[in-house]
Amino acid sequence: MHVRRDDMVMAVVGKDRGKTGKVLRVLPGRKRVIVEGLNLHKKHVRANPGKQEQGGIVEREGAISVSNVMLYCTKCSQRTRIGHRVLEDGTRVRYCRKCNEAV
Ligand SMILES: [Zn+2]
Repeated sequence: MHVRRDDMVMAVVGKDRGKTGKVLRVLPGRKRVIVEGLNLHKKHVRANPGKQEQGGIVEREGAISVSNVMLYCTKCSQRTRIGHRVLEDGTRVRYCRKCNEAV
């Protein structure tokens, strides 16, 4: 998986192409991610008075395939690929291949 939770990603295909959002959940087994504001679909929910939930229609994010998103670098404001680098003290960092900034 090339993205992690809390990464910013951009959808590269589909109706949300070009939109960016934060990764809310990663589903490695299904190779899918749930991204804030992407792949919204309307969901009908029943009122649940016990949990103080109102019924109605809410918008929920649906899972999208990781191959349909690319990491979005907030430093250089473009979608990018990620590189891995091991520092001299042994810590691993991920970096943007376009601007070389660690992410
Ligand atoms: Zn960058």
